[in-house]
Amino acid sequence: MDRDWVLHVMDTVSGFSRGETGITRLALSPEEMQARSYVTGLMQELEMRIRVDAIGNIIGRLEGTDPAAAPVCVGSHLDSVPEGGRYDGVLGVVAGLAAIRRIIKEGHTKHPLELIIFTAEESSRFGFATMGSKAMAGIADLKAWGKAKDSQGIGFLEALAAVGFLPDQIESASRIGEALHAFVELHIEQGPVLEDAGLPIGIVEAIAAPTRLKIRVEGTPGHSGTTPMDSREDALVTAAQIILAVREVALSRYGEGTVGTVGNIKVNPGVMNVIPGLAEMWVDIRGVDHDSIVETVQELKDEISIIAEAEGTTVAIEVLTSDKPVRLHQSVSAAVEQACKDLKVSYRRMNSGAGHDAMHMAALCPTGMIFIPCARGISHNPEEFAAPDDIMTGIDVLTRTLRSLAE
Ligand SMILES: [Zn+2]
Repeated sequence: MDRDWVLHVMDTVSGFSRGETGITRLALSPEEMQARSYVTGLMQELEMRIRVDAIGNIIGRLEGTDPAAAPVCVGSHLDSVPEGGRYDGVLGVVAGLAAIRRIIKEGHTKHPLELIIFTAEESSRFGFATMGSKAMAGIADLKAWGKAKDSQGIGFLEALAAVGFLPDQIESASRIGEALHAFVELHIEQGPVLEDAGLPIGIVEAIAAPTRLKIRVEGTPGHSGTTPMDSREDALVTAAQIILAVREVALSRYGEGTVGTVGNIKVNPGVMNVIPGLAEMWVDIRGVDHDSIVETVQELKDEISIIAEAEGTTVAIEVLTSDKPVRLHQSVSAAVEQACKDLKVSYRRMNSGAGHDAMHMAALCPTGMIFIPCARGISHNPEEFAAPDDIMTGIDVLTRTLRSLAE
């Protein structure tokens, strides 16, 4: 049966993992290469034609009835974070394969179908996310990637070469100018919205993007016993107020889908009996509305200058990255919505707070995403779980969507 096959394939891929806790299948690791060759074998059983591009994206193709038609693509990734879960990425690959398997049984589509397994979606190993889909979208950052190394000191390019890919030809992975009909990615939501609402399907309208700031507060270090309370320039006290300001400003913008987090702070000298002279913070502001993000950052800067002046400290703000949120395509969302209606499956439209390969594919062709619920919204964690019923509903909706896009 279909369901048994899907669960068996999910189980088998979960077996390609290092260590005892959760799933550790880093990009281009022996475990990921095993998972790739297992899934490639399944594609070959379905008589799909396989090619692997220079950065290692695997593209399995099932011809349609019209040899001239542009392909409808589906896919996700097989790499994981350290001690992650079984579903992030893998589910999108397996669901795509299950959908293609059904379409083979029920009758080929007009357009060819392509299952794409993207290289290095997670940033965990080399510090850059969605590398395979960026290369496919023609935005590979060759200069930065050339310097990227993992924690063992193995370079990204070196790791590509070691498994037989072609690091000096990464630019050839670009599919700019090629006719692609559509791309669809199915993924676990990685948040609690669908589960809380009791809905099996989310239709993603936009993917949030982060603006990242490094905030450096300089005060004056001093003896914690001898410096009077009213003449201190305490960098950490300023930083504490900035953390609260991030929360306040983001809360006031929450209706626009913008969120803000101070995820890390470093204090110098960082000893109990010295007033902190330096505090550095890393801040992540993200959302689906770029104007809202820009205004949030501006409001935060205004707040920070008031705080810094009152505390007698100096604050420098450095923008590390500022990515643009991605709107997915109405034509694909409409196809997913129609599939839900045809199958009498309830759904809601929503945004993705996390990044996905789909955000780069959206630059190449009409792109959509289908979310299914995951337990308590947990992901990147061994507890990550998606119920088999929800997985099968997702595959039903994906199959119908692909068929309608490919007719
Ligand atoms: Zn993922």
